[in-house]
Amino acid sequence: MNGLMMDYQLTIPSILKRVNQVYPNKRVISKLANEQIHEYTYRDMYKRIIRLMNALKKLGIKPEDRVATFAWNSYRHLELYFAIPSLKAILHTLNIRLFPEQMEFIINHAEDQIIFIDKSLVDVITPLQGKIGKVRNFIVMDDGGKEPSGKLANAIDYEELLSSSLEEECFLQIDENTASALCYTSGTTGEPKGVLYSHRSTYLHSFALCLAGSLAICERDNVLPVVPMFHVNAWAIPYASPMSGANLVFPGPNMLGKSLAELMESYRVTLAAGVPTIWNLLYHHLKNNKHDLASLRAMVIGGSAVPKSLIDNFYKDFGLNIIHAWGMTETSPLGTASILTKEMESLTYNEQLNFKAKQGPPVAGIEIRAIDDDGKEVSWDGKSIGELEVRGPWVAKEYYKNPELKEQFASDGWFKTGDVVCIDENGFMEITDRKKDLIKTRGEWISSVDMENYVMGLKGVLEACAIGRQDNVKDEAPVLYVILSKDAAETIKAKDIYTHLSNKFAHWQLPKLSDIHFVDSIPKTSVGKFDKKELRKRLK
Ligand code: ADP
Repeated sequence: MNGLMMDYQLTIPSILKRVNQVYPNKRVISKLANEQIHEYTYRDMYKRIIRLMNALKKLGIKPEDRVATFAWNSYRHLELYFAIPSLKAILHTLNIRLFPEQMEFIINHAEDQIIFIDKSLVDVITPLQGKIGKVRNFIVMDDGGKEPSGKLANAIDYEELLSSSLEEECFLQIDENTASALCYTSGTTGEPKGVLYSHRSTYLHSFALCLAGSLAICERDNVLPVVPMFHVNAWAIPYASPMSGANLVFPGPNMLGKSLAELMESYRVTLAAGVPTIWNLLYHHLKNNKHDLASLRAMVIGGSAVPKSLIDNFYKDFGLNIIHAWGMTETSPLGTASILTKEMESLTYNEQLNFKAKQGPPVAGIEIRAIDDDGKEVSWDGKSIGELEVRGPWVAKEYYKNPELKEQFASDGWFKTGDVVCIDENGFMEITDRKKDLIKTRGEWISSVDMENYVMGLKGVLEACAIGRQDNVKDEAPVLYVILSKDAAETIKAKDIYTHLSNKFAHWQLPKLSDIHFVDSIPKTSVGKFDKKELRKRLK
């Protein structure tokens, strides 16, 4: 057809070139493992990325080669985010918190050739040497962490590599459908599966983060991605921020409330993003320590459900606004974000809170639907429940080197998320549970997420996690694990939790008193979610 638009390729190096031309003086601030601050401009970053690209070429990296990172959130990790895909190679962000066997499996499955590793993490990887066959070099990035006790064979210092490298630009022509990055699911419900992103999907997904109807990342922002760069590309914030000219603030390894609050205050952070457990820690820090966080326009929370009480408490106690977002490794991850409409501003505080606690409407570019057990699409009435399916330009269409894993890919082009949801008349989606975590009692389902969130709304409860226990009478009976604050440990008993729950749940849904356990910790996955697989194993 004549007269159409240009066939312009959407690629990661185009984001890089633009930030260097348009926002060269905007800044990247990184807190290092030794608590020191590193600060430079996007212009400085650009020059180092060119050197890094030349160095990678010299190391023999070719298109489609997998180059892994094993690192905290920092400027060097950002350099790798751009340099590797700009050579048509594939950035493979390794999750540093996996078990050694999982790590070994993933490195071998991806056939990583080089691993860039923070010095403070070297000791995590040394035991794997000899088991990760294709890895020929380790490039060590001195993040100020303590000297490792073990030694890596074929190790090269990152800064030496850069200083001995060329400064000449070596950009390639890249088709937008070229693979750019590889990320494995964190394995909350099964073995890790690889998802391969493309330049195009990453570019469009980054655009979506900049839309006013989603996270609205813009040039005025100072963005703090607490979500790790080894977890779904830190929700693409490392691409969306340079794309829009926002400054970046990286937290490094220290993600405790004090460190985050200090960074937010010192660098006037406007937008921060992370999983609920991180913000829970911050909330408790802020309760006892004074910080000026007036610059913060929003905190994005996703990865697991945010208790309504946390949204409420942050707002009531500190005037802080939470954006609840939903996504998965397979969706790059951004799928929905709970941004209230203008019309909703006239609702009461509690009505608004109910909308904020939902995972929200799909962002532009993503389509959602919910399918019931009979395979029919359920209506958007705020009541009907079904499995969430999604489609869009940044949703995976198969798993990396695993095309036989077809179960989650519907034949009509939708991805089955495994999340059970209802969608209301406004298009706001609410997750009831993961399909595998629903608790079946007398033929009815109980949402473990609902139960957890309701218990976490009780003052003195720090964390609560619900799973099902096989039960002859009920099919499954809910079992609750609860962590109390120090002050509440003496006063809150199982019967108080039971009474609180009975305000919302029918009596047949309630856990027995003997199934309410007070514990000191609840096992978490590598990305801070309740590890229900592990809890079920222990219960057995
Ligand atoms: P894994 O599948 O190994 O947990 P992911 O990080 O890809 O790794 O997890 C995606 C899942 O996390 C989603 O399918 C959903 O169950 C859960 N999730 C993500 N964001 C939210 C949210 N805001 N509320 C509830 N659950 C969420």
